[in-house]
Amino acid sequence: MSRGDDTTGLRAGWERTPEQEHSEAIFPTSSFTFRSAAEAAARFSGEASGNIYSRFTNPTVRAFENRLAAMEGGERAIATASGMSAILSLCMGLLRSGDHVICSLGVFGTTTSLFANQLSRFGVETDFVAPTDLDAWAAAIRPETRMLFVETPSNPLTEIADIRALADLAHAHDARLVVDNCFCTSALQRPLEWGADIVSHSATKYLDGQGRCVGGALVGDADTLDRFIFPFLRTAGPTMSPFNAWVFLKGLETLNLRMRAHSEQAAALAGWLREHPAVTRVFYSGLPDHPQHALAARQQKAFGGIVSFEVAGGRPAAWRVIDHTRMLSITANLGDTRSTITHPASTTHGRVSADQREAMGIHEGLVRVSVGLEDLADIQTDLDRGLSQSGEGG
Ligand SMILES: *Cc1c(COP(=O)(O)O)cnc(C)c1O
Repeated sequence: MSRGDDTTGLRAGWERTPEQEHSEAIFPTSSFTFRSAAEAAARFSGEASGNIYSRFTNPTVRAFENRLAAMEGGERAIATASGMSAILSLCMGLLRSGDHVICSLGVFGTTTSLFANQLSRFGVETDFVAPTDLDAWAAAIRPETRMLFVETPSNPLTEIADIRALADLAHAHDARLVVDNCFCTSALQRPLEWGADIVSHSATKYLDGQGRCVGGALVGDADTLDRFIFPFLRTAGPTMSPFNAWVFLKGLETLNLRMRAHSEQAAALAGWLREHPAVTRVFYSGLPDHPQHALAARQQKAFGGIVSFEVAGGRPAAWRVIDHTRMLSITANLGDTRSTITHPASTTHGRVSADQREAMGIHEGLVRVSVGLEDLADIQTDLDRGLSQSGEGG
């Protein structure tokens, strides 16, 4: 691609209508008309291309798909109603009863539930392994393994998985590697370039970037998406609405710019937290002593906007930090221009058993911050108010 990444984010994937509008048009229409019965028949049979019905063809949604595909360096994208419906569509399109999946332990909690509690009812078995333990991934491979699923950096501990190594492992066993690229986005990491077969997105997070809409997408090669995923979307209908697609298009315009700014803010905050007397540990792959710092520096353009840290004193101390903030939004959402703060052990990972949480390294004293674009000094002041109260009797 000859264009630069910022230009792609602003202009790729869309053509003006004859009205010559400067901002993308929204097409809030359920269906499209045909000039004749013959044209209708040709469209339905696939002989002629063109819109039919917005469950599976809509110009605004297509513009979002085309732009995201260009940004991820993929041939084709398929937009969905949410990040979870992207992962569901992926599994329904590519897996069948009897297949086996290997999934990282460090994925979004609902993704874990989808594999462990929903797909298991349809004869798809999933094993969970540590994202950074390549030997464990290799040991979990079975003849029926068809998919490896990983999220990197992981949530909330910012562990970095080696995409190239996992892709090689998958391909040696006739399986596909799927990477949930929610935390970095195409602005910081392009999994397809490291050998991944499919990228999945929750557009709800950084792609929107301002906490407005729920949506998702899959990006990959046109053959796989058209042959396996699109028929499921067309038949089952977990479709993105045209209005949401338009909001996400606006989000993509500033994605590269925002991700650079989020990364800069988070790096500065991570360094500050590390010096703070109330903080016992900081999780951020940009810190030189992060266990996968070198891999993150190679695989990503920057280290992203999510910082987690631990305070001594377990859950009561972590809750005191959160409850003494006045500006940060207490919410499980992330990837917003406004900073958010979360206690993973009692929210996003609250349904995981305490033993399993400990095994995953998600301790009671852990706090996750999605670092927004407010003035850094204001974020620090707000956290400091909480941190200075985190001790006993605070
Ligand atoms: C939020 C999230 C999802 C699910 O997306 P929804 O849009 O909420 O359905 C999947 N993966 C990751 C990493 C997420 O953060």
